[in-house]
This record gives sequence, structure tokens and C-alpha cells, in this order.
Amino acid sequence: MNDQQLLRYSRHILLDQIGIEGQQALLAGHALVIGAGGLGSPAALYLASAGIGHLTIVDDDTVDLTNLQRQIAHTTARVGQPKVESVRTALLDLNPEVLVTALAERVDEGRLAALVAAAGVVLDCSDNFATRHAVNRACVAARVPLVSGAVIRFDGQVSVFDRRRAEAPCYSCLFPQDQAFEDVACATMGVFAPLVGVIGAMQAAEALKLVMGIGTSLAGRLLMLDGLHMEWTSIQIKRNPCCPVCGGH
Ligand SMILES: [Zn+2]
Repeated sequence: MNDQQLLRYSRHILLDQIGIEGQQALLAGHALVIGAGGLGSPAALYLASAGIGHLTIVDDDTVDLTNLQRQIAHTTARVGQPKVESVRTALLDLNPEVLVTALAERVDEGRLAALVAAAGVVLDCSDNFATRHAVNRACVAARVPLVSGAVIRFDGQVSVFDRRRAEAPCYSCLFPQDQAFEDVACATMGVFAPLVGVIGAMQAAEALKLVMGIGTSLAGRLLMLDGLHMEWTSIQIKRNPCCPVCGGH
């Protein structure tokens, strides 16, 4: 690290659990963020400010006026731009040292597998079950830890699925693929703006800890937030030995 980096990251380096070694692990780290919306915005901003070395962000959408209420990486001036380009501008303004790979595409299974295998940690900031399951399958196959977040209306949830640990569940153990969960889109149901910030920032925190190998992750636990009454609930989640995605591994 040079002098500028020692200053920029000094409040990390001062932490016993991080120090020079942890910060260097972040600078050498690669995070894949799926989705550049409400969760992806704060997650990517914190990953970049904290000094993740390489951040790949994937989203095929463009910035719309209705996004700006909660998707804080975007600005009024960037309405109409691809979201990943808008996020890249925000991240590089914050920290020009981060290598940002912006992919304005809808990734298929094969592309996802390659992107996940190249990353050290994956943050699922998408808004639909099909994508969440596809990301989970790729993470299980490549044994890359997945930090999953979701927010709708006044409710949020966050967890980590880390199949590097034999007893840890995958996303599909919790939400079976064949179960008909209904996608409730923000577009029709609404979402309380700061909740995506709360959950997205927690996803960044878990991802950074995983990259540095510090603390205890949310693997095996699901945290649920009732934002209207501001109450957290933590539930244990167990691996399903018959899970078609991770069972038999
Ligand atoms: Zn599973």
C-alpha cells in the first residue's frame, strides 16, 4: 500500500481485526454484484469505499425516474443511462482505485457460471426468484459464498449461503426451487426507501468480512427486518439433505 492508500483506509487499518493484512485482502478481492438497483447501489458503494480491488456489477436495466427514490448510486442527470454505467460513475467518483467491470446484460446460466467462478464473493441484489436460484446454483457449483438480500414494502431479509462449509445450507434449502413463490415487484408493491440501504449495507458488511476471513458470517441464519416496527428476527436455517442443488455434495 502507498501513503495515499494508508490514509484512505486508515480507519480500517486501525481496527485490530482488519489491520494492514485485512485491507490488503480487500484490495486483492473480487466481488460480483448481481443487480444495480436498490440493494446493489449501497452494497457496491460500500464495497468500493472500503477498497475492494475488483467489483463486477451486472444489470441490463436503465435508470428510470422511479428508481431514484431508493437506488442511491444513480442521479437525476443519469436517468436513461444503463444502470451499470451510472453505478460505475458513482463508484469511481468515490474511489478511482477500484477496478469496476460494468456488464449491461442479462446473464444466462453459462455466463453466470463463469462470472461466479471468477469472483471471491457474490452479492445477490436482484429482485426475482428465477435470478436468485440461478445465482445460487452457480455459487453452489463453484463453492463461492453468496450474500443474499431482499426487500419489499417495509420488510427486509439478509443471509449468507456458504457451501464451502459442509453443514451450511444453500438458498434453495431455504426456498425450494419447485415451490411457487410469487415475485412481488417493487414496481407494483412499493418499497420503503431506507430499507434497501439497511439491507444492502449489511450485504456489503458480510461480503467484506468473507473476503477478509474475519468474524462470524450469517451462514445458517436468516435475519428478517420488520422496518415498520423496527424489529429484527433471527432464525436458524438448516441444510436440506435432499436439496436438489446442494444435496449429495
Ligand atoms: Zn441446498
